[in-house]
Amino acid sequence: CAEAAMYQVKQQGRNNFRFFAPEMQANSSRSLALSHALKLALARNELSLVYQPQFSFERQRMHAAEVLLRWQSPEWGPISPVEFIAMAEHSGLIISIGEWVMREAAKQLALWQKQGMHNLVLAINLSGVQFNQPDLVTNLARIVREEGVEPACIELELTEAVALQNPEAAGLVMHALQQAGFHLSIDDFGTGYSSMSYLKRFAVDKLKIDQSFVRELESSADDKAIVTAIIQMAQSLEMKSLAEGVETQAQADLLRELGCHEIQGYLYSRPLLAQDFASFYWAQMISKSGF
Ligand code: C2E
Ligand code: MG
Ligand code: MG
Ligand code: MG
Repeated sequence: CAEAAMYQVKQQGRNNFRFFAPEMQANSSRSLALSHALKLALARNELSLVYQPQFSFERQRMHAAEVLLRWQSPEWGPISPVEFIAMAEHSGLIISIGEWVMREAAKQLALWQKQGMHNLVLAINLSGVQFNQPDLVTNLARIVREEGVEPACIELELTEAVALQNPEAAGLVMHALQQAGFHLSIDDFGTGYSSMSYLKRFAVDKLKIDQSFVRELESSADDKAIVTAIIQMAQSLEMKSLAEGVETQAQADLLRELGCHEIQGYLYSRPLLAQDFASFYWAQMISKSGF
């Protein structure tokens, strides 16, 4: 319901508040107050990053981590990124937040590399609003250069909707990002307006299979068919596939059987604070356990 209200605000703009049902009105004032609090959050140090390990079947270990943003508001407590990212997109704040995420992640990666974590890739979510900024490529390239990491150690996650909004323009930006050295993946794959034909024109390295198809993978023949199709399509387009939201061993086993390259989910690890991530990294370097 909160999401529906936010969606309407996004779609129709502020003048349409009067059409909202009373409970939606309450949600709108919450969202206005939150939106205001979010404006101060960066300066007040309320934003932080967590890192969720990704497991490669081929390498039998962690090869990468997804960077996920967290907001702990003193007034409101922890707020889900699903809620505050949408607000930040609506207000335009996502531009400065997105740059902050990139800089913090690059800084952290540079430090980890100095400590001996080589070949680690960090996957960073890009909002459609960021993606449509004309200076996106120069900005991202500058940030990683200033922090001293190679763009090849960064994978940028885009959603299908972003890519398909304007496929021509998106294709050019993706090509420019790839030329600058970044890797690209399509996040939440299968939930958008999946058009298979556009994929081959994009400079994409990986499809991230949305967790909604993974949840009932073992019991739903439909979900299994969809996941199988995505993995095979990725393979024939010479892309990798990663399944999100893997929570059980049975799901992991089935995904490996189906030829999925990588998995990410609570089974392997929850998103971790930087220091816990470092411990996880070194522990799995010593042990040989895989899936
Ligand atoms: P996403 O990029 O698809 O990220 C995956 C989400 O699934 C994360 O939620 C993660 O914590 C959650 N997850 C991971 N493994 C499991 C699992 O096994 N089971 C379940 N049920 N969930 C799992 P989170 O951190 O709440 O982030 C939600 C969304 O917010 C992200 O979805 C992404 O779209 C957005 N987001 C997060 N951080 C950023 C950011 O820095 N920038 C932008 N633009 N968006 C972000
Ligand atoms: Mg993501
Ligand atoms: Mg996702
Ligand atoms: Mg998502």
